[in-house]
Amino acid sequence: MLRPKTPEEVQEAVLAHPRLRVRGGGSKPALSGPEEGEALLDLSELKGVVEYDPEELVLVARAGTRVAEVEALLKAHGQHLPFHPPLSAPGATLGGTVAAGLSGPLAQRFGGVRDFLLGVRFVDGQGRLLKGGGKVVKNAAGFPFHRLMVGALGAFGVLVELAFKVFPAPPATRTLRVAFPSLEEALSALERLLLAPLDLMALDLLPPNALEVRIGGFPEALGPRLEKLKRLLGRDGEVLEEDEAHWEGVRNLAFLEGPLLLKVPSRLDLIPLLEGLPLGRRRYLLGGNVLYAEGDGEALKALRARGLAHLVLKGAEDPLFPRPQNPFFQKVKAALDPLGRFPLR
Ligand SMILES: Cc1cc2nc3c(=O)[nH]c(=O)nc-3n(C[C@H](O)[C@H](O)[C@H](O)COP(=O)(O)OP(=O)(O)OC[C@H]3O[C@@H](n4cnc5c(N)ncnc54)[C@H](O)[C@@H]3O)c2cc1C
Repeated sequence: MLRPKTPEEVQEAVLAHPRLRVRGGGSKPALSGPEEGEALLDLSELKGVVEYDPEELVLVARAGTRVAEVEALLKAHGQHLPFHPPLSAPGATLGGTVAAGLSGPLAQRFGGVRDFLLGVRFVDGQGRLLKGGGKVVKNAAGFPFHRLMVGALGAFGVLVELAFKVFPAPPATRTLRVAFPSLEEALSALERLLLAPLDLMALDLLPPNALEVRIGGFPEALGPRLEKLKRLLGRDGEVLEEDEAHWEGVRNLAFLEGPLLLKVPSRLDLIPLLEGLPLGRRRYLLGGNVLYAEGDGEALKALRARGLAHLVLKGAEDPLFPRPQNPFFQKVKAALDPLGRFPLR
């Protein structure tokens, strides 16, 4: 196993091996386990915060830095990563989060990992240390090249350093959980909430028929906002006053035990179809747009038979469906990794 401590050591490792598999914290093993003939490049020692100036709302860190460590540092300054990276507690790193393109429940209000990544440094398949984007929030120069790395699963290079925009965390939050008589009614309420100017921090659907709505802001404003929500929904529901631990469990996907852990892009009109599939425990985040579910071989077969795109984070050997065929991906791959050192799973 290769365990580089510096970007230069990553360059040496890349040039010395024809096939590599990068691992950050190993919290998504379907994506980071090496196959036959692949050298494992473990980035857990390429870690540490390089720059953090709370007044500038920018944080720069090495790719192997654990999300949990960064969040503890930000919390001490009343700030957070608003894209709410999943699997923080099981050891997700910044690099793995960006490469897998994963965001958590708060992305409903603030935007996903793509929106908060300001710049990257990475080693491409020819061993070059390259950079994209920058370290400032207002940066209009050049293409937002760094965003290609979001969700690329490491196919274009090894991320070594990342710059993020960070935000002040809301001073208080509340969650309203409401059950409806049917999935149909829950979906219709979800649609009403999406169309209303309510500034919701998180909006999740819990099958078969419940919604969880999280709001945040000054504590004195939250009571009236909850009342407005209840009026709009025509239901009282249950209010969680202390909701932090609950949402930590959600973003860490602690409610999913396997054997497979799946991420499925969803849409309101797709949900009835997805609900007919043999999936296990599950939750639709971001107003119904992302499904995280547990499943087994049957679930995988059912998704593939219907041509439904998905990513397996744990438990399968072929985690990406469908495979990227588009010419744009192939052109970028040919420019950055012509020898195919970073095979896609
Ligand atoms: C050299 C240079 C570098 C720059 N770099 C960046 C950069 O890196 N990033 C970036 O984001 N921006 C950049 N800008 C853009 C700059 O930030 C904008 O010029 C500025 O935001 C315009 O704001 P303003 O209030 O002066 O608007 P104005 O220039 O006064 O107006 C802008 C437009 O809005 C219209 N408008 C103005 N007021 C109203 C109104 N009340 N109702 C309806 N329409 C209205 C105007 O008719 C005009 O079309 C750059 C500009 C320059 C010249």
